Amino acid sequence: MNRAESERLESLFQHLGYLPTTTASEADLIVLNSCVVRQHAEDRIVNKINALKKLKNSPQPPTLAVTGCLVDSNTTRLKHRFPHVDHFLKPGEYPTWLVKSKPFPILPQQPSPSTYVPIIQGCNNFCSYCVVPYRRGREKSRPVSEIVNEVKELARRGVKEVVLLGQNVDSYGHDLPDKPDLTHLLYELNGIDGIVRIRFLTNHPKDMNNRLIEAIAKLGKVCRQINLPVQAGDDKVLKAMGRGYSVESYRQLVARIRSQVPDISMSTDIVVGFPSESEEQFQATVDLLRELRFDSVHVATYSPRPDTTAARNLEDNVPPSVKKERLDTIERLQKKIATEINGQLLGKTVEVLVEGKRKGRWHGRSRSGKLVFFSENGELLGKIVKVKIEKTSPWALQGRIYG
Ligand code: SAM
Ligand code: SF4
Repeated sequence: MNRAESERLESLFQHLGYLPTTTASEADLIVLNSCVVRQHAEDRIVNKINALKKLKNSPQPPTLAVTGCLVDSNTTRLKHRFPHVDHFLKPGEYPTWLVKSKPFPILPQQPSPSTYVPIIQGCNNFCSYCVVPYRRGREKSRPVSEIVNEVKELARRGVKEVVLLGQNVDSYGHDLPDKPDLTHLLYELNGIDGIVRIRFLTNHPKDMNNRLIEAIAKLGKVCRQINLPVQAGDDKVLKAMGRGYSVESYRQLVARIRSQVPDISMSTDIVVGFPSESEEQFQATVDLLRELRFDSVHVATYSPRPDTTAARNLEDNVPPSVKKERLDTIERLQKKIATEINGQLLGKTVEVLVEGKRKGRWHGRSRSGKLVFFSENGELLGKIVKVKIEKTSPWALQGRIYG
Protein backbone atom coordinates (compact mmCIF):
# COMPACT_ATOMS: atom_id res chain seq x y z
CA MET A 1 0.00 0.00 0.00
CA ASN A 2 2.87 2.35 0.84
CA ARG A 3 4.51 1.62 -2.47
CA ALA A 4 1.27 2.36 -4.34
CA GLU A 5 0.82 5.61 -2.44
CA SER A 6 4.45 6.63 -2.99
CA GLU A 7 4.13 6.04 -6.76
CA ARG A 8 1.05 8.26 -6.88
CA LEU A 9 2.59 10.98 -4.72
CA GLU A 10 5.69 10.96 -6.90
CA SER A 11 3.49 11.37 -9.94
CA LEU A 12 1.61 14.26 -8.34
CA PHE A 13 4.90 16.04 -7.57
CA GLN A 14 6.02 15.53 -11.16
CA HIS A 15 2.72 17.11 -12.33
CA LEU A 16 3.59 20.07 -10.12
CA GLY A 17 6.95 20.43 -11.83
CA TYR A 18 9.27 18.53 -9.50
CA LEU A 19 11.89 16.17 -10.91
CA PRO A 20 13.34 13.14 -9.15
CA THR A 21 16.87 13.37 -7.68
CA THR A 22 19.24 10.59 -6.80
CA THR A 23 20.48 11.94 -3.47
CA ALA A 24 18.67 13.61 -0.59
CA SER A 25 21.16 16.51 -0.52
CA GLU A 26 20.09 17.62 -4.04
CA ALA A 27 16.39 17.66 -3.23
CA ASP A 28 14.10 20.67 -2.72
CA LEU A 29 11.46 18.40 -1.27
CA ILE A 30 11.84 15.13 0.60
CA VAL A 31 8.83 12.99 1.48
CA LEU A 32 9.30 9.95 3.71
CA ASN A 33 6.56 7.33 3.58
CA SER A 34 6.55 5.45 6.87
CA CYS A 35 5.44 2.01 8.04
CA VAL A 36 4.98 1.31 11.76
CA VAL A 37 3.42 -2.13 11.62
CA ARG A 38 6.27 -3.35 13.85
CA GLN A 39 8.63 -1.49 16.16
CA HIS A 40 11.58 -2.32 13.92
CA ALA A 41 9.99 -0.51 10.96
CA GLU A 42 9.20 2.47 13.19
CA ASP A 43 12.80 2.61 14.48
CA ARG A 44 14.12 2.67 10.92
CA ILE A 45 11.92 5.54 9.81
CA VAL A 46 12.65 7.53 12.99
CA ASN A 47 16.40 7.10 12.35
CA LYS A 48 15.91 8.30 8.78
CA ILE A 49 13.94 11.36 9.86
CA ASN A 50 16.63 12.23 12.40
CA ALA A 51 19.42 11.67 9.86
CA LEU A 52 17.82 14.28 7.58
CA LYS A 53 18.08 16.95 10.29
CA LYS A 54 21.53 18.01 9.12
CA LEU A 55 20.15 18.96 5.67
CA LYS A 56 17.98 21.56 7.38
CA ASN A 57 21.17 23.47 8.30
CA SER A 58 22.35 23.62 4.69
CA PRO A 59 22.24 26.95 2.75
CA GLN A 60 19.15 25.81 0.81
CA PRO A 61 17.31 23.50 3.19
CA PRO A 62 14.75 21.17 1.60
CA THR A 63 11.11 20.99 2.60
CA LEU A 64 10.70 17.84 4.65
CA ALA A 65 7.41 15.93 4.84
CA VAL A 66 6.50 12.65 6.52
CA THR A 67 3.52 10.53 5.54
CA GLY A 68 2.35 6.96 6.20
CA CYS A 69 1.34 5.21 9.39
CA LEU A 70 3.77 7.06 11.67
CA VAL A 71 1.44 10.03 11.30
CA ASP A 72 -1.38 9.68 13.83
CA SER A 73 -4.04 12.28 14.60
CA ASN A 74 -1.81 14.01 17.15
CA THR A 75 0.36 15.97 14.72
CA THR A 76 1.14 18.52 17.46
CA ARG A 77 3.00 15.79 19.35
CA LEU A 78 4.82 14.77 16.15
CA LYS A 79 5.80 18.38 15.43
CA HIS A 80 7.20 18.60 18.94
CA ARG A 81 9.12 15.33 18.48
CA PHE A 82 10.47 16.22 15.03
CA PRO A 83 10.64 20.05 14.86
CA HIS A 84 12.70 19.94 11.65
CA VAL A 85 9.83 18.25 9.73
CA ASP A 86 7.70 20.82 7.88
CA HIS A 87 4.61 18.77 7.07
CA PHE A 88 2.92 15.63 8.36
CA LEU A 89 0.42 13.91 6.06
CA LYS A 90 -1.86 11.12 7.23
CA PRO A 91 -1.71 7.96 5.06
CA GLY A 92 -3.19 8.72 1.64
CA GLU A 93 -3.44 12.50 2.34
CA TYR A 94 -2.35 15.01 -0.29
CA PRO A 95 0.22 17.81 0.17
CA THR A 96 -2.30 20.53 0.97
CA TRP A 97 0.45 23.16 1.13
CA LEU A 98 0.96 22.63 -2.62
CA VAL A 99 -2.48 21.67 -3.96
CA LYS A 100 -5.60 23.45 -2.72
CA SER A 101 -8.21 20.75 -3.37
CA LYS A 102 -7.89 17.00 -3.50
CA PRO A 103 -6.68 16.23 -7.02
CA PHE A 104 -8.31 13.54 -9.13
CA PRO A 105 -6.39 10.31 -8.38
CA ILE A 106 -3.03 10.76 -10.02
CA LEU A 107 -1.74 7.61 -11.70
CA PRO A 108 1.89 6.56 -11.74
CA GLN A 109 3.43 8.50 -14.63
CA GLN A 110 5.55 5.69 -15.98
CA PRO A 111 3.61 2.73 -14.69
CA SER A 112 5.24 -0.63 -14.37
CA PRO A 113 3.73 -3.45 -16.50
CA SER A 114 2.36 -4.64 -13.16
CA THR A 115 0.81 -1.79 -11.20
CA TYR A 116 -0.80 -1.54 -7.77
CA VAL A 117 -4.33 -0.18 -7.58
CA PRO A 118 -5.69 0.55 -4.09
CA ILE A 119 -9.41 -0.33 -3.99
CA ILE A 120 -10.21 -0.02 -0.29
CA GLN A 121 -8.49 2.02 2.40
CA GLY A 122 -8.39 1.39 6.15
CA CYS A 123 -9.60 -1.55 8.17
CA ASN A 124 -12.56 -2.24 10.49
CA ASN A 125 -11.20 -5.44 12.00
CA PHE A 126 -9.13 -4.24 14.93
CA CYS A 127 -7.12 -7.44 15.35
CA SER A 128 -5.76 -7.03 18.88
CA TYR A 129 -2.09 -6.71 17.80
CA CYS A 130 -2.50 -4.42 14.79
CA VAL A 131 -2.00 -0.66 14.59
CA VAL A 132 -3.37 -0.28 11.04
CA PRO A 133 -7.00 0.64 11.91
CA TYR A 134 -5.72 3.33 14.30
CA ARG A 135 -3.53 4.92 11.66
CA ARG A 136 -5.39 4.27 8.44
CA GLY A 137 -8.90 4.69 9.82
CA ARG A 138 -12.09 2.84 8.94
CA GLU A 139 -12.75 1.07 5.63
CA LYS A 140 -13.46 3.31 2.67
CA SER A 141 -13.98 1.73 -0.76
CA ARG A 142 -13.37 3.51 -4.02
CA PRO A 143 -16.39 3.42 -6.38
CA VAL A 144 -16.35 0.68 -9.04
CA SER A 145 -16.58 3.25 -11.87
CA GLU A 146 -13.53 5.13 -10.56
CA ILE A 147 -11.45 1.94 -10.39
CA VAL A 148 -12.64 0.75 -13.83
CA ASN A 149 -11.75 4.11 -15.43
CA GLU A 150 -8.38 4.09 -13.74
CA VAL A 151 -7.58 0.56 -14.90
CA LYS A 152 -8.66 1.45 -18.47
CA GLU A 153 -6.29 4.41 -18.38
CA LEU A 154 -3.49 2.23 -17.00
CA ALA A 155 -4.10 -0.27 -19.82
CA ARG A 156 -3.87 2.61 -22.29
CA ARG A 157 -0.48 3.46 -20.79
CA GLY A 158 0.75 -0.10 -21.33
CA VAL A 159 -0.03 -1.76 -18.01
CA LYS A 160 -0.72 -5.49 -18.41
CA GLU A 161 -1.38 -6.52 -14.82
CA VAL A 162 -3.16 -4.80 -11.96
CA VAL A 163 -2.74 -5.79 -8.31
CA LEU A 164 -5.80 -4.65 -6.36
CA LEU A 165 -4.90 -3.61 -2.84
CA GLY A 166 -6.67 -3.41 0.48
CA GLN A 167 -6.01 -4.40 4.08
CA ASN A 168 -9.06 -6.58 3.63
CA VAL A 169 -10.14 -6.83 -0.02
CA ASP A 170 -12.97 -9.19 0.95
CA SER A 171 -14.89 -6.33 2.50
CA TYR A 172 -14.60 -4.18 -0.63
CA GLY A 173 -17.80 -2.31 -1.44
CA HIS A 174 -19.89 -2.81 1.70
CA ASP A 175 -19.74 0.95 2.38
CA LEU A 176 -20.76 1.97 -1.17
CA PRO A 177 -24.38 2.80 -2.16
CA ASP A 178 -25.06 -0.29 -4.34
CA LYS A 179 -22.91 -2.55 -2.17
CA PRO A 180 -20.82 -4.06 -4.97
CA ASP A 181 -18.33 -6.69 -3.83
CA LEU A 182 -14.88 -7.81 -4.95
CA THR A 183 -16.37 -10.46 -7.25
CA HIS A 184 -18.44 -7.80 -9.03
CA LEU A 185 -15.33 -5.65 -9.43
CA LEU A 186 -13.33 -8.59 -10.81
CA TYR A 187 -15.99 -9.24 -13.48
CA GLU A 188 -15.85 -5.58 -14.52
CA LEU A 189 -12.05 -5.50 -14.69
CA ASN A 190 -11.85 -8.84 -16.48
CA GLY A 191 -13.55 -7.18 -19.47
CA ILE A 192 -10.94 -4.44 -19.93
CA ASP A 193 -8.89 -4.79 -23.13
CA GLY A 194 -5.13 -4.74 -22.66
CA ILE A 195 -5.23 -5.99 -19.07
CA VAL A 196 -4.19 -9.64 -19.10
CA ARG A 197 -3.74 -10.37 -15.41
CA ILE A 198 -5.54 -9.35 -12.25
CA ARG A 199 -4.35 -10.09 -8.72
CA PHE A 200 -5.60 -8.91 -5.35
CA LEU A 201 -4.49 -8.90 -1.74
CA THR A 202 -5.09 -9.33 1.16
CA ASN A 203 -8.02 -11.66 1.86
CA HIS A 204 -9.36 -12.11 5.37
CA PRO A 205 -10.34 -15.72 6.11
CA LYS A 206 -13.47 -14.71 8.02
CA ASP A 207 -14.84 -12.75 5.05
CA MET A 208 -13.90 -14.82 2.02
CA ASN A 209 -16.97 -16.19 0.22
CA ASN A 210 -17.77 -18.87 -2.36
CA ARG A 211 -18.70 -16.35 -5.06
CA LEU A 212 -15.13 -15.07 -4.97
CA ILE A 213 -13.65 -18.58 -5.14
CA GLU A 214 -15.87 -19.32 -8.15
CA ALA A 215 -14.75 -16.08 -9.82
CA ILE A 216 -11.08 -17.03 -9.38
CA ALA A 217 -11.83 -20.42 -10.98
CA LYS A 218 -13.84 -18.91 -13.83
CA LEU A 219 -12.34 -15.57 -14.85
CA GLY A 220 -9.49 -16.02 -17.32
CA LYS A 221 -7.52 -12.92 -16.31
CA VAL A 222 -7.73 -13.46 -12.55
CA CYS A 223 -4.52 -15.13 -11.43
CA ARG A 224 -4.82 -18.26 -9.37
CA GLN A 225 -3.02 -16.90 -6.39
CA ILE A 226 -4.24 -15.96 -2.96
CA ASN A 227 -2.76 -14.46 0.22
CA LEU A 228 -4.83 -15.73 3.13
CA PRO A 229 -3.20 -14.82 6.46
CA VAL A 230 -3.89 -17.35 9.21
CA GLN A 231 -1.56 -15.68 11.81
CA ALA A 232 -1.58 -18.67 14.23
CA GLY A 233 -2.49 -22.36 14.36
CA ASP A 234 -4.16 -22.40 17.77
CA ASP A 235 -7.76 -21.39 18.54
CA LYS A 236 -6.97 -19.71 21.85
CA VAL A 237 -4.29 -17.55 20.26
CA LEU A 238 -6.59 -16.72 17.32
CA LYS A 239 -9.29 -15.67 19.78
CA ALA A 240 -6.87 -13.46 21.71
CA MET A 241 -5.79 -11.96 18.39
CA GLY A 242 -9.45 -11.22 17.58
CA ARG A 243 -9.25 -12.85 14.18
CA GLY A 244 -12.83 -14.14 14.05
CA TYR A 245 -12.22 -17.70 12.77
CA SER A 246 -11.04 -21.05 14.11
CA VAL A 247 -8.21 -23.23 12.87
CA GLU A 248 -10.77 -25.77 11.65
CA SER A 249 -12.79 -23.23 9.68
CA TYR A 250 -9.55 -21.93 8.13
CA ARG A 251 -8.57 -25.49 7.20
CA GLN A 252 -11.96 -26.05 5.57
CA LEU A 253 -11.68 -22.78 3.67
CA VAL A 254 -8.28 -23.78 2.26
CA ALA A 255 -9.70 -27.20 1.28
CA ARG A 256 -12.66 -25.53 -0.44
CA ILE A 257 -10.39 -23.15 -2.37
CA ARG A 258 -8.05 -25.95 -3.42
CA SER A 259 -10.88 -28.24 -4.52
CA GLN A 260 -12.41 -25.52 -6.72
CA VAL A 261 -9.11 -24.08 -7.98
CA PRO A 262 -6.69 -27.03 -7.85
CA ASP A 263 -3.61 -25.24 -9.21
CA ILE A 264 -3.93 -22.22 -6.92
CA SER A 265 -0.80 -20.80 -5.32
CA MET A 266 -1.34 -19.85 -1.67
CA SER A 267 0.56 -17.76 0.85
CA THR A 268 -0.08 -16.83 4.44
CA ASP A 269 1.10 -14.54 7.25
CA ILE A 270 2.15 -15.71 10.71
CA VAL A 271 2.87 -13.82 13.92
CA VAL A 272 5.01 -15.76 16.42
CA GLY A 273 5.50 -14.93 20.09
CA PHE A 274 2.07 -13.38 20.64
CA PRO A 275 1.59 -12.75 24.43
CA SER A 276 1.55 -16.04 26.37
CA GLU A 277 1.96 -18.20 23.22
CA SER A 278 3.09 -21.53 24.67
CA GLU A 279 5.45 -24.04 23.07
CA GLU A 280 2.44 -26.30 22.31
CA GLN A 281 0.52 -23.45 20.73
CA PHE A 282 3.51 -22.54 18.60
CA GLN A 283 3.90 -26.21 17.64
CA ALA A 284 0.27 -26.20 16.45
CA THR A 285 1.19 -23.38 14.04
CA VAL A 286 4.18 -25.37 12.77
CA ASP A 287 1.96 -28.45 12.31
CA LEU A 288 -0.62 -26.42 10.41
CA LEU A 289 2.02 -25.05 8.03
CA ARG A 290 3.39 -28.56 7.51
CA GLU A 291 -0.11 -29.81 6.77
CA LEU A 292 -1.29 -27.01 4.47
CA ARG A 293 2.01 -26.47 2.61
CA PHE A 294 1.83 -22.85 1.42
CA ASP A 295 3.88 -21.54 -1.50
CA SER A 296 5.17 -18.79 0.75
CA VAL A 297 4.84 -17.65 4.36
CA HIS A 298 5.47 -14.15 5.74
CA VAL A 299 6.45 -14.62 9.35
CA ALA A 300 7.03 -11.88 11.92
CA THR A 301 7.75 -11.78 15.64
CA TYR A 302 5.04 -10.10 17.72
CA SER A 303 5.73 -6.45 18.37
CA PRO A 304 3.50 -4.50 20.80
CA ARG A 305 2.02 -1.49 19.03
CA PRO A 306 0.64 1.70 20.55
CA ASP A 307 -3.14 1.89 21.17
CA THR A 308 -3.77 -1.77 20.31
CA THR A 309 -5.76 -3.89 22.79
CA ALA A 310 -2.97 -6.50 22.97
CA ALA A 311 -0.40 -3.87 23.93
CA ARG A 312 -2.76 -2.34 26.50
CA ASN A 313 -4.03 -5.54 28.10
CA LEU A 314 -1.49 -8.32 27.52
CA GLU A 315 2.07 -8.61 28.75
CA ASP A 316 4.67 -9.06 25.99
CA ASN A 317 5.99 -12.06 27.88
CA VAL A 318 7.57 -14.33 25.26
CA PRO A 319 11.32 -13.62 25.53
CA PRO A 320 12.96 -12.15 22.39
CA SER A 321 15.26 -15.19 22.08
CA VAL A 322 12.24 -17.54 22.04
CA LYS A 323 10.46 -15.36 19.48
CA LYS A 324 13.56 -15.44 17.28
CA GLU A 325 13.87 -19.22 17.64
CA ARG A 326 10.20 -19.65 16.62
CA LEU A 327 10.69 -17.36 13.64
CA ASP A 328 13.75 -19.34 12.55
CA THR A 329 11.89 -22.65 12.95
CA ILE A 330 9.12 -21.48 10.64
CA GLU A 331 11.54 -20.01 8.12
CA ARG A 332 13.49 -23.29 8.01
CA LEU A 333 10.33 -25.35 7.55
CA GLN A 334 9.00 -23.02 4.87
CA LYS A 335 12.31 -23.08 3.01
CA LYS A 336 12.04 -26.85 2.79
CA ILE A 337 8.38 -26.77 1.68
CA ALA A 338 9.01 -24.03 -0.92
CA THR A 339 12.04 -25.94 -2.23
CA GLU A 340 9.82 -28.97 -2.82
CA ILE A 341 6.92 -27.01 -4.34
CA ASN A 342 9.14 -24.95 -6.66
CA GLY A 343 11.21 -28.05 -7.53
CA GLN A 344 8.11 -29.51 -9.20
CA LEU A 345 8.35 -26.72 -11.78
CA LEU A 346 11.73 -27.91 -13.05
CA GLY A 347 11.48 -28.59 -16.79
CA LYS A 348 8.02 -26.98 -17.00
CA THR A 349 7.20 -23.91 -19.06
CA VAL A 350 5.63 -20.91 -17.34
CA GLU A 351 4.16 -17.69 -18.73
CA VAL A 352 6.05 -14.65 -17.46
CA LEU A 353 5.09 -10.96 -17.55
CA VAL A 354 8.46 -9.20 -17.85
CA GLU A 355 8.69 -6.46 -15.20
CA GLY A 356 12.31 -5.33 -15.38
CA LYS A 357 16.01 -6.10 -15.58
CA ARG A 358 18.35 -6.77 -12.65
CA LYS A 359 22.08 -7.39 -13.01
CA GLY A 360 21.68 -8.04 -16.74
CA ARG A 361 18.87 -10.55 -16.34
CA TRP A 362 15.18 -10.03 -17.07
CA HIS A 363 12.73 -10.79 -14.31
CA GLY A 364 8.99 -11.12 -14.00
CA ARG A 365 6.32 -13.24 -12.40
CA SER A 366 4.53 -16.37 -13.50
CA ARG A 367 0.74 -16.38 -13.34
CA SER A 368 0.99 -18.08 -9.94
CA GLY A 369 3.18 -15.23 -8.67
CA LYS A 370 6.61 -16.95 -8.78
CA LEU A 371 9.58 -14.71 -9.44
CA VAL A 372 11.35 -15.87 -12.63
CA PHE A 373 14.77 -14.76 -13.99
CA PHE A 374 16.10 -15.34 -17.49
CA SER A 375 18.65 -13.88 -19.92
CA GLU A 376 17.65 -12.68 -23.37
CA ASN A 377 18.69 -9.91 -25.76
CA GLY A 378 16.23 -7.32 -26.96
CA GLU A 379 13.58 -5.18 -25.30
CA LEU A 380 11.14 -7.35 -23.39
CA LEU A 381 9.75 -5.01 -20.73
CA GLY A 382 5.98 -5.51 -20.49
CA LYS A 383 6.00 -8.54 -22.81
CA ILE A 384 4.50 -11.88 -21.94
CA VAL A 385 6.99 -14.66 -22.65
CA LYS A 386 7.20 -18.40 -22.13
CA VAL A 387 10.11 -19.49 -19.97
CA LYS A 388 11.29 -23.08 -19.53
CA ILE A 389 12.45 -23.54 -15.94
CA GLU A 390 16.00 -24.89 -15.60
CA LYS A 391 16.78 -24.10 -11.98
CA THR A 392 14.63 -23.62 -8.90
CA SER A 393 15.16 -22.30 -5.39
CA PRO A 394 12.73 -21.64 -2.52
CA TRP A 395 12.51 -17.95 -3.52
CA ALA A 396 12.78 -17.82 -7.32
CA LEU A 397 13.03 -19.73 -10.59
CA GLN A 398 15.50 -19.42 -13.47
CA GLY A 399 15.13 -20.50 -17.06
CA ARG A 400 15.33 -19.63 -20.72
CA ILE A 401 12.83 -18.32 -23.25
CA TYR A 402 11.01 -21.18 -24.86
CA GLY A 403 9.49 -21.16 -28.32
N1 SAM B 1 -4.89 -7.26 6.67
C1 SAM B 1 -4.03 -8.34 6.59
C2 SAM B 1 -4.48 -9.46 7.51
O1 SAM B 1 -5.50 -9.39 8.10
O2 SAM B 1 -3.78 -10.41 7.67
C3 SAM B 1 -2.60 -8.00 6.88
C4 SAM B 1 -2.17 -6.58 7.02
S1 SAM B 1 -0.91 -6.34 8.23
C5 SAM B 1 -0.58 -4.69 7.95
C6 SAM B 1 0.45 -7.25 7.55
C7 SAM B 1 0.98 -8.30 8.48
O3 SAM B 1 1.76 -7.70 9.48
C8 SAM B 1 -0.06 -9.09 9.25
O4 SAM B 1 -0.56 -10.14 8.51
C9 SAM B 1 0.69 -9.57 10.46
O5 SAM B 1 1.23 -10.85 10.23
C10 SAM B 1 1.82 -8.54 10.60
N2 SAM B 1 1.61 -7.73 11.81
C11 SAM B 1 0.66 -6.81 12.04
N3 SAM B 1 0.79 -6.30 13.28
C12 SAM B 1 1.85 -6.92 13.84
C13 SAM B 1 2.47 -6.83 15.12
N4 SAM B 1 2.01 -6.02 16.06
N5 SAM B 1 3.56 -7.60 15.35
C14 SAM B 1 4.02 -8.45 14.40
N6 SAM B 1 3.46 -8.58 13.19
C15 SAM B 1 2.39 -7.82 12.91
FE1 SF4 C 1 -4.52 -5.34 10.82
FE2 SF4 C 1 -5.20 -6.98 8.85
FE3 SF4 C 1 -6.31 -7.28 11.26
FE4 SF4 C 1 -6.94 -5.17 9.73
S1 SF4 C 1 -7.37 -7.35 9.31
S2 SF4 C 1 -6.51 -5.13 11.91
S3 SF4 C 1 -4.98 -4.74 8.76
S4 SF4 C 1 -4.14 -7.56 10.69
